[in-house]
Amino acid sequence: MNESTDDLAGGLYAARQKVYSREVAGRFQSLRTCAVWALLGLYYVLPWVRWEGRQAVLFDLPARKFHVFALTLWPQDFYLLMWLLVIAAMSLFFFTALAGRLWCGYACPQTVWTEVFIWMERWVEGSRSQQMKLAKAPWTTDKILRLGAKQILWIGFALWTGFTFVGYFTPVTELADKLASLATGPWETFWVLFYGGATYMNAGLMREQVCKYMCPYARIQSAMVDRDTLIITYDERRGEPRGARRKGSDPRARGLGDCVDCTLCVQVCPTGIDIRQGLQNECIGCAACIDACDDVMGKVGYPRGLIRYDTQSGLEGAPRRVLRPRTAVLGAVLLLLMGGFLYAITHRNVVAVDVLRDRNALYRERGAGLIENVYNVKILNKDAAPHEFVITASGLAGIAIDYGAAAIAVGPGEVRSVPVRIRVPRAELRGGADIRVVIRSRDTQALEASGKARFLAPTN
Ligand code: SF4
Ligand code: SF4
Repeated sequence: MNESTDDLAGGLYAARQKVYSREVAGRFQSLRTCAVWALLGLYYVLPWVRWEGRQAVLFDLPARKFHVFALTLWPQDFYLLMWLLVIAAMSLFFFTALAGRLWCGYACPQTVWTEVFIWMERWVEGSRSQQMKLAKAPWTTDKILRLGAKQILWIGFALWTGFTFVGYFTPVTELADKLASLATGPWETFWVLFYGGATYMNAGLMREQVCKYMCPYARIQSAMVDRDTLIITYDERRGEPRGARRKGSDPRARGLGDCVDCTLCVQVCPTGIDIRQGLQNECIGCAACIDACDDVMGKVGYPRGLIRYDTQSGLEGAPRRVLRPRTAVLGAVLLLLMGGFLYAITHRNVVAVDVLRDRNALYRERGAGLIENVYNVKILNKDAAPHEFVITASGLAGIAIDYGAAAIAVGPGEVRSVPVRIRVPRAELRGGADIRVVIRSRDTQALEASGKARFLAPTN
């Protein structure tokens, strides 16, 4: 490799410099800490919550049922899941148009788990400067013990995360018992290790690289913001020229702006960027630099907000229009989608019926000039209560139905298959015709579902 190629390779493949972010306190950091506790608390606690004798939230894939407290979703309700995804996407558009990367800064799993891994690192290795010193220090017993303790904490937490993830798909108490006796199945073991390993890699080792190089949202979010979107930004007109000064001195008299060039905003940044260089793709909108700078401004006696949430228009002195047609339209669509979802979920039909023809016989000729077809009627009761169903058939004159009982009892979350004979006078038929099979609950008339079937008969 010649010299110029060496230069090129060095430029393109620069080794990653680990970001040692400084601890910060302030109103936005408090908000982020609350978000971490709320979101991770929910994630780790939810599988252990019980509801009417079963796990409250369980995605039971073998039984094809998703339990969410009183609600049980079946494959027929898959459209609700799609609907939920559309709501999630629309929320992302709306909040990004409103205030940039709110999702990344406060609620993204990558941010939330990374925050916890950083907390653990600080407990074991100390502050930013202590961590940097330890990284450069020779290998001593203290260094080995500290780094070892950090790895034990990280790996333990990652495995607990993987275990919790699998606990959403396998009853978590059973999974805990199996784990205690080292009897987990191959798939359970794989997913605990896979999800735990992914957590360890993403939040422990890769951190800001996931946001910079892997996250697709980071690539597209710039298309969703405009000059009226609230973003975290440095007020260059107020801050520059930056420079150190004695406390109490008049910066303007020395030709200085308000930035004292303390670099604290850079030191607290989890992605290691300098917000003073303008809007950057790497900024995840965590607002740590706002807290750091506000603290500095308070100490030197300047107004807060040198780094703040502001719009590009606002920074240039133009009126701020955070609520504008784009946000109003996105907000209205989001509200409509959410309202529609709530309606659909509270008014969805909790019974379903499937009518399948008996494939062994096309039709049978019975006495008294009747033609008989046999069907298998599957009744699905998605409700939390048992119901008794009456089956009727319609669509042809003189149609009669026989299923050997006055009503069919179906328990909550149960599917019952009922052999059903339907007879029609031959005089009413030539070839075949469509009929309708209806199931209706005896206790609550509102529970009703119907299915179409083909009734076959001789053509002559
Ligand atoms: S924290 Fe504020 S004052 Fe300090 S360097 Fe950053 S912008 Fe300047
Ligand atoms: S520049 Fe500020 S808001 Fe952006 S990632 Fe860094 S600390 Fe967070």
